[in-house]
Amino acid sequence: MDARSPSSAFAGTRWSRQRLDALTDAVEPPDGDDDPIRVHAPAVGDPLGTVPRLTEPGVERAVSRCREAAADWRERTPRERAAVLDRFAALVEAHRKELIDLVQLETGKARRHAFEEVLELPLTASYYARRAPDLLARERRESAVPLVTTAAVEYDPVGVVGIISPWNYPLTLSMTDAIPALVAGNGVVLKPDEKTPFVALRLAELWLEAGLPTDVLAVVTGEGPVVGPALIDRVDYVTFTGSTETGRTVAERAGRNLIDCSLELSGKNPMLVCADADPGTAARGAVQGCFTNAGQLCLTTEQIYVEQPLFESFLDRFVSATESLALGATFDYGPDVGSLIDGEQLARVESHVADAVERGGTVEVGGRHRDDVGPYFYEPTVLTGVPEESVAVCEETFGPVVTVEPVASVEAAIERASDASHGLNASVWTGERERGERLASVLSYGTVCVNDTYAAGWAAFDAPMGGVRDSGIGRRHGPEGLRRYVEPKTVASSRIGPVDEPPFLPRTWFVRAVTALAALQRRVRQRFA
Ligand code: NAD
Repeated sequence: MDARSPSSAFAGTRWSRQRLDALTDAVEPPDGDDDPIRVHAPAVGDPLGTVPRLTEPGVERAVSRCREAAADWRERTPRERAAVLDRFAALVEAHRKELIDLVQLETGKARRHAFEEVLELPLTASYYARRAPDLLARERRESAVPLVTTAAVEYDPVGVVGIISPWNYPLTLSMTDAIPALVAGNGVVLKPDEKTPFVALRLAELWLEAGLPTDVLAVVTGEGPVVGPALIDRVDYVTFTGSTETGRTVAERAGRNLIDCSLELSGKNPMLVCADADPGTAARGAVQGCFTNAGQLCLTTEQIYVEQPLFESFLDRFVSATESLALGATFDYGPDVGSLIDGEQLARVESHVADAVERGGTVEVGGRHRDDVGPYFYEPTVLTGVPEESVAVCEETFGPVVTVEPVASVEAAIERASDASHGLNASVWTGERERGERLASVLSYGTVCVNDTYAAGWAAFDAPMGGVRDSGIGRRHGPEGLRRYVEPKTVASSRIGPVDEPPFLPRTWFVRAVTALAALQRRVRQRFA
């Protein structure tokens, strides 16, 4: 595999250590010892800068200020708030190149994958700017007694939303949930991952420039186990994206505080290749599905089931396409696959491959740490013959590693995929798209793509995205992604005073009359449904 890496962290970017330091001016000052968190550039291992290590008092101050600022923000009309989203979208587009540089600096990902993050954000902002005013408008509902009473629903913001985001997509995953929360009239306090805090800080500056009032969006930096719980204890809703393990602790804490949450968690996403699929197209899809962002994507394909007649031709094409991928994280569009985030992630990937091989699996391509490119680069790796009990089959690897297995029938593949503990994203590959959609209907996953691994689902911003089983609860994107940030409030009124028996009517007559009216109402509604 060809390889290229930058010579030092900032060379060839629009960023410097001083510019990154200036971003932290907006963060609360830390309490106690000034022991900042050190952030590194994974592609080269060099230090990038530091951010404050906040503790509970810092989070308390940030949330209080946000709550105060949000009180005015919620009074603006949805259309006024949507206008701020539109301006934010335009600013992200205008600063596209510097944002792509910054995503690459923090994550070590290939430029093409950093580009996808920056491409997505203005589209999400403009989707919610268009749709939110209608979705948040007062709605009339069926009343208790037609003509006598009325019922309507209003959507009040929940208050302050806490967002806890991971390192793998620091731009998309810090903001894709903040956008609907803000347009719904909430304040947002965002805790980015400690490995990738600078992108969120730069985006916070762009929000201010777009006209978002000061403190309506605050960024708190610090360690997850310290800042995370302090945040959950103070907000009115929490959106968490990260591992299933941490997600459980977040849900427990939110439950104790009786606040609602959405949890976007781990995946172990299967790809089902039917015998009638085009093997070249499926192999091209597999390369994208398995190795985007070096496999560090929650939607990444980690298991491929291929119907026996197509197995050899699919595998040949997939292995040779993987072999031709170029490793690197230079600040141009040359490399195909970037770095892993750190040594811990590298160790996890290496241990999964070693375990698969020890249990009899075969490395068809890849399988090597490439420290000649950078400290945490690992080759895209295709494994076959891996037993079911191997960790690479049972657990999420979250790296550029995939197992490929022949199956006797597509039904057998569906059975295997349905048995899995995770349920985030699956894909079906077939020569007949309608058949693919029928197969998709029987798969119990949050998203199922046909003849694409994940992009068609993720980029459908009007459609919900989320997981079932161990992959989480709740949905982002679409109307569902907005409505989680509001409290639906019913406003019901009566034209005749109390909806109760009138004083002049004997109770038995009242019971008869109400019974007759209820039956009539049921029949009329059934008839005109
Ligand atoms: P993680 O759970 O370790 O960390 C995620 C975030 O939680 C970070 O900001 C971290 O600081 C914070 N955190 C850590 N401990 C905490 C605690 N006790 N309380 C509150 N917050 C805490 O996840 P990770 O390993 O950094 O991220 C990778 C995982 O995220 C993978 O499993 C991946 O599949 C998943 N992920 C899911 C989605 C999705 O949309 N479903 C998207 C991206 C990543």
